[in-house]
Amino acid sequence: AIHVENLHKKFGQLHVLKGVSLSARDGEVVAIIGGSGSGKSTLLRCINCLENPTSGIIRVNGEEIRLKPNGFGDSIPADRRQIERIRSRLGMVFQSFNLWSHMTLLENVIEVPVHVLGIKRMDAIAEAERLLARVGLAEKRDVYPAYLSGGQQQRAAIARALAVQPRVMLFDEPTSALDPELVGEVLKVIGDLAREGRTMVLVTHEMKFAREVATHVIYLFNGQVEEEGPPEQIFGAPKSERLKQFIRSIG
Ligand code: ATP
Ligand code: MG
Repeated sequence: AIHVENLHKKFGQLHVLKGVSLSARDGEVVAIIGGSGSGKSTLLRCINCLENPTSGIIRVNGEEIRLKPNGFGDSIPADRRQIERIRSRLGMVFQSFNLWSHMTLLENVIEVPVHVLGIKRMDAIAEAERLLARVGLAEKRDVYPAYLSGGQQQRAAIARALAVQPRVMLFDEPTSALDPELVGEVLKVIGDLAREGRTMVLVTHEMKFAREVATHVIYLFNGQVEEEGPPEQIFGAPKSERLKQFIRSIG
């Protein structure tokens, strides 16, 4: 589960998140939508401890991220080990499939389990093979990322994220860098995970997909939650004028 309360993030003078709250209970799929620059990635990056919030509370699976002031009006983690522990239970998939290019798919998937989580190599390989088969890449286990399509690379990135047995998955526009004909295969994999009852927070521009898989939708505008609710409300009967306009603009 993820719980965010009154989160603020400033980059210097730029106030990017202005009191955002969000929660994803176990089994919920929370979709975050909003225009470019509204703060969606920054919000996910704060949850994953890639950015330090300026203020606010973040709890991941019940554990609150402990922060201390950095002396410049911002904060830094109070405990690096806690950050590593929290991050190891999150599966993060980004827009650009950031696989390690000098490793085969199998090596990509077993890297963190073996070298960070201390899982035996044989066991990690067996699990990686199962995960690669699950995303339809069983035959590609010994191939390097450069030889794969974008859709295949993104499916491999999902297999890699799953290899840490994450309790929560975070997706940041996982299909926006793909050619249109490759989007469907990646959404299918993410949709299956959602229907399995995995907890996720998903930033997406795929409105039809968000409507299908989300249990809750949050519309961010200029660093604030402008409207939120079940997908039927957000897409079927939006209240805010800005949200109505956003939905029209995105088609
Ligand atoms: P997009 O849909 O284009 O991905 P987004 O909603 O994910 O947009 P963010 O990436 O969260 O938006 O950016 C929000 C604002 O914060 C933008 O104005 C961006 O320029 C700014 N920003 C993001 N990261 C940094 C940073 N590291 N330093 C300074 N400004 C930043
Ligand atoms: Mg973004």
